Amino acid sequence: MVDMAAFVAGLPKAELHVHHVGSASPRIVAELAARHSDTTVPSDAAALADYFTFRDFAHFIDVYLSVVDLIRDAEDVRLLTYEIARDMARQNIRYAELTITPFSSTRRGIPDVAFMEAIEDARVRAERELGVVLRWCFDIPGESGLEAAAETARMACELRPEGLVSFGLGGPEIGVPRPQFKPYFDRARAAGLRSVPHAGETTGPETIWDAINLLGAERIGHGTSAATDPRLLDYLANHGITLEVCPTSNIATRAVTTLDEHPIRAMMEAGVTVTVNSDDPPMFGTDLLNEYLIAARLLDLDAPGVAALAKNAVTASFADDATKARLADEIDTYTKAALSEQ
Ligand SMILES: [Zn+2]
Repeated sequence: MVDMAAFVAGLPKAELHVHHVGSASPRIVAELAARHSDTTVPSDAAALADYFTFRDFAHFIDVYLSVVDLIRDAEDVRLLTYEIARDMARQNIRYAELTITPFSSTRRGIPDVAFMEAIEDARVRAERELGVVLRWCFDIPGESGLEAAAETARMACELRPEGLVSFGLGGPEIGVPRPQFKPYFDRARAAGLRSVPHAGETTGPETIWDAINLLGAERIGHGTSAATDPRLLDYLANHGITLEVCPTSNIATRAVTTLDEHPIRAMMEAGVTVTVNSDDPPMFGTDLLNEYLIAARLLDLDAPGVAALAKNAVTASFADDATKARLADEIDTYTKAALSEQ
């Protein structure tokens, strides 16, 4: 028998749904807090572990916002981005599409051009020094409305950092209808960016239909409620629209009651391409390794099954063909070697 935890740890992986500020681990937060003496966020690791223990979802939002408050200048952005890649390298994540919300930073006074330079510096360094390929998804913070949508589309299209591949939409779904964002997705798609809105996490399948029909979604962030609509599952399967599933996040936000009730199995059985992701890993007390182990359990996967899941993320990524081929090859080579050792 292959030791699944060891197999997953060494498996080369791609991650398609993980947020920038939401990936700030206690270690990174401590480094950011140390740069800003006026913060109430503790700067030693032990106190931070306690600080990161969420009492409830409202407390999670408070902590998240206190971390947002630590991203005050371009140097903070550079440090955060590079250190996220370091945490990824430790998990053998070889490629990641990081969802970034530039509006949150530019609204707080970081100049847009300096912001873009900071993420690009980090991206180039992460690839050179850590072997982690980073790409960006710029997402609209839905709760900030159309001003945020217009600004995000402007930055994506006019400043277009080299690593940018896609355009997204996050924040609450309830009370924030998707159709209003159509013009901004139209603009981004016309500029060649791929469409990856969050949808159907806290609302029903109609939000996912809107994301597909109005926003041109090629992948769906979460899409949890798709499992309640057989016609939608068929549509996703037939049109190759991938679901970015984040099991632990779905429990933390109460989108799903328990892991055993998670619809990931129904999605797979309907023929939908599913990828496994960590969303806001330290904030939800998880990482991508843990999410793969959860998926392996829920789907009854052996090592080749887990490797196939890892390849789904490569196939559904917006990497260029050469990068996709290299990542798929790394997964195959690793899996073959791991199985032959048995
Ligand atoms: Zn998300």
